[in-house]
Amino acid sequence: MPTLEPKYLIGDTWGTASDLPPMAVINPATGEPLYDVPCCSPDHVAQALQYAEAGFAEWSAIPGWQRAKYLRRIAEEIVERREEFGRAIATEMGRVHTACAGEADSAAEQFVWMAGEAERLFGQTLTSRFGGELSIVPEPVGIVAAFSPWNFPLGLPARKLAPALAAGCVVILRPSEQTPLVGTILGECCQAAGLPTGVVQVLQGHPDGVSPALMEADAVRKISFTGSTRVGRLLMEQAAPTVKRMSLELGGHAPLIICPDADVPAAAKLAAKFKFMNTGQICGSPSRFFLHDDIADEFTDVFMTEAKNIRIGDPMSPDTTMGPMASPAQMDKLERLVEDAVDKGATLRLGGTRAPDQNKGFFFSPTVLEYVPDDAEIMSEEPFGPVASLTTYTDLGDAIARANSTQYGLGSYAFTRSETVARRLSKELQSGMVGINNFLLSHCEAPFSGVKHSGVGIEGGQMAIKEYLTFKTTHIDLEVASV
Ligand code: NAD
Repeated sequence: MPTLEPKYLIGDTWGTASDLPPMAVINPATGEPLYDVPCCSPDHVAQALQYAEAGFAEWSAIPGWQRAKYLRRIAEEIVERREEFGRAIATEMGRVHTACAGEADSAAEQFVWMAGEAERLFGQTLTSRFGGELSIVPEPVGIVAAFSPWNFPLGLPARKLAPALAAGCVVILRPSEQTPLVGTILGECCQAAGLPTGVVQVLQGHPDGVSPALMEADAVRKISFTGSTRVGRLLMEQAAPTVKRMSLELGGHAPLIICPDADVPAAAKLAAKFKFMNTGQICGSPSRFFLHDDIADEFTDVFMTEAKNIRIGDPMSPDTTMGPMASPAQMDKLERLVEDAVDKGATLRLGGTRAPDQNKGFFFSPTVLEYVPDDAEIMSEEPFGPVASLTTYTDLGDAIARANSTQYGLGSYAFTRSETVARRLSKELQSGMVGINNFLLSHCEAPFSGVKHSGVGIEGGQMAIKEYLTFKTTHIDLEVASV
């Protein structure tokens, strides 16, 4: 029987009761309410922290080799329920259903990869040059509060839970209030895998009900947040009094540089696919297109053809290639950014408004802006929607400087056939990740991370488990050194 309504998980018990009023979860394809999400309060946080402390004592004492078995079971549960996840993702945040099941597979991969890391988690022993031995032992940081957004409502919490559990930490997860059913099913997968009580708990609802209490609690030793730079900064400030560890995966505004030697039609087709994927609501979505003068028209023609072929509509329909935006506020922002770009001299080639043939839901037309000047707000403010801003360049050094000219540094992309140019771009683009002739930056086996205002810390890959560990050094000398 599939889970149909969001709940919170405290200890071993699922609940919906709260003193705070619930929030309506809106289907972005219809604008109609789906159900209510219970809003957890500081009292729920206090209860969850008690279970988390007991859970941490138990979980951290289990050897990594054994913890790995639980992580693999969570992966199996997620794969088992991939259809249910797919429906929940499509209904709660509007992604086309045919593209949703893949998120369950990649979330499961996170747990499988991190199971391996848990098995390989051991310390070092060194001979001290002052005599005796230095033992260096990894220890879990403790209770983790994980805040995840709605745009990949399963994959992003998985990127937090998997390394935290592998390290021996326990997690209080607060999924986005827009995607609470996905968070509920993920919690059920963890429970079904047999985790001890208090190892994974799920608190739901408005962030104000739970976030301040978690941020204030000294027992919470680590924050892992994915979302906007604005909220990331706020959490950094709130973490300071209790000196919490932080991993922040924040906003992005990825440049795409098309060099004159690129396979231009292939690049344009691929760029259109990735630009409009998830309705442009991807932190690594290409959003500032720098086209070399010699190939700009050819690229734009192919890109426009692909953009015009996008079929907007019901995410559950197999004919749909782009669903709605997650919220109306996102559309207001896009309209403002498009208007500003046109006022400053850009040409609107396609879209620019709410989709005219959709009379309900939060649908925004695929939008292409050409000749966008560098001072348009959309060249520095993250659009996080289906808008491509095209501009041209003559000199590669100038394109790189303009690509680097925002506060963001998450993903960057470039298309070229030259290995020398590819290596230069990889070195000079200021971002945590660079895609050359592809847009594939998210791999469970490699770090996903940003620089500058795009974040702090790493998710994914071998290094990610270290975000949840401290390394204790003990200098053991069996004799007291003579003075
Ligand atoms: P947001 O920061 O407003 O919200 C993100 C999530 O944080 C939501 O679930 C929200 O409820 C929650 N939140 C808000 N205030 C909070 C608080 N005080 N404490 C704890 N949680 C709080 O961002 P948004 O506009 O909903 O999401 C889009 C943003 O997220 C974009 O900037 C995008 O680039 C970024 N993002 C980054 C990554 C990444 O991996 N770097 C991935 C996805 C999204």
